[in-house]
Amino acid sequence: MEQIFSQTVKEVQNLVGLSREEMKILEDVDSAASELLEYEYQYYLEHRYNEKIPEILSKYDLMGIPILTKYQGRGARPIVHALAMERLGQVGMGVVTFADVHQFLGSLTIQQWGNEEQKQRYLPKAAKGSIILAFALTEPEAGSDPSSMLSTYSAKDGRYYITGSKYLISNGSVADNMIVFARGIENSKEISAFILDTKSTGFKVEMKLLDKPGLFTSDTALLSMEEVEVSKEDLLGKEGKGLSVAYSALLNGRIGIGAGCVGVMDDCLKQVKERSINRVQHGKAIAKHQLIQKHIAKIASELEASRWLVYRAALQKEKYDKSPEDIDLRLETDRMSAIAKYTASNASFDVADRAMQIFGGFGYNLFSPVTRHFLDTRVARIYEGTDEIMELKIASTILGKEYEAYR
Ligand SMILES: Cc1cc2nc3c(=O)[nH]c(=O)nc-3n(C[C@H](O)[C@H](O)[C@H](O)COP(=O)(O)OP(=O)(O)OC[C@H]3O[C@@H](n4cnc5c(N)ncnc54)[C@H](O)[C@@H]3O)c2cc1C
Repeated sequence: MEQIFSQTVKEVQNLVGLSREEMKILEDVDSAASELLEYEYQYYLEHRYNEKIPEILSKYDLMGIPILTKYQGRGARPIVHALAMERLGQVGMGVVTFADVHQFLGSLTIQQWGNEEQKQRYLPKAAKGSIILAFALTEPEAGSDPSSMLSTYSAKDGRYYITGSKYLISNGSVADNMIVFARGIENSKEISAFILDTKSTGFKVEMKLLDKPGLFTSDTALLSMEEVEVSKEDLLGKEGKGLSVAYSALLNGRIGIGAGCVGVMDDCLKQVKERSINRVQHGKAIAKHQLIQKHIAKIASELEASRWLVYRAALQKEKYDKSPEDIDLRLETDRMSAIAKYTASNASFDVADRAMQIFGGFGYNLFSPVTRHFLDTRVARIYEGTDEIMELKIASTILGKEYEAYR
């Protein structure tokens, strides 16, 4: 803890104060991250899902960081969760993707939208790691515009039946339960959210998507559903309010992805410092060449700018959590989480690229630690809202609703 993570935590501690329990969460995250690093690297080289992620997060009681203690989570507020995701980002975006989907898009969404019975049924198991969660919104024909989804549900004898396919779903082939979105057959304008059991008849993992150019340690799948039965009790939120559920989940998730990208940049900075001091060319350490220092200055600047933006978004979310009915607070939180994710994901890709440049030919190699970040972090500009969708969202929150470009 002391060497790797302490400076940032101290700065945040000075600003907002962190309780003993919050400090303990961060110490546990630090221990889990240290243990995960070796596996993440090994599984990345083998191009396969890192199943050690849920195992090690569970071992340190970190599968439910933001979940209330009454549901057996750690009850972390958003700034603590952001710090935790930042530390996991130092390990890699594979770990961040798993944790973000399971906790922000999965459990936190059930905590926010579920009724008491649903919270009791899913949250303790998710927080203790006995179930893994996924979030299935995207379809082959509906990505940036989820309102065009083709999956449908019908209601019969007090049950729902879901049919359709979901594409690019993280944790898709390893999840026990997932939040799935579908449109009503009776009323096609109504999109609803359900908590689906992946053992149900009619649910199928069609394909694990293994040909990604990075993020090998994260499970991504194409799924199909053929009349999958879901009980009335597993409707999440009100019928017809599915897109509100989805958008609020993504608002949370983007802070986590932004924080993970900050961790990636932090690790890149550490790696280039070591490499540039030790690599000698033209008779001196490359760290003494001014053009290398320019890259390092840019990396450090992008890191700090993104880091404090992510904290700002997390603190904004904390305010909003206290007054969830306040529309202005919601808009500002939505805007800040989009700005944080958009800025940090672009910065981390640029930073990983610069880090590869500093490593030279040694960096153009799958074994290089910064190359792993380069390959893994690219997706952060695509998932949970592409760059373009973030730009449109940010601009419309400034210009006003009538300037929303895609309505
Ligand atoms: C590795 C990975 C993991 C993922 N995990 C999940 C998951 O767990 N759950 C889930 O539901 N989804 C997941 N996704 C899907 C992801 O959220 C979508 O890929 C993303 O939302 C973009 O949708 P699309 O790929 O269909 O691209 P499209 O929507 O087809 O977009 C293609 C291009 O057009 C641009 N574009 C689209 N509309 C507009 C517009 N109005 N104005 C300007 N430009 C526009 C986009 O920005 C993009 O550049 C994952 C994706 C990846 C790659």
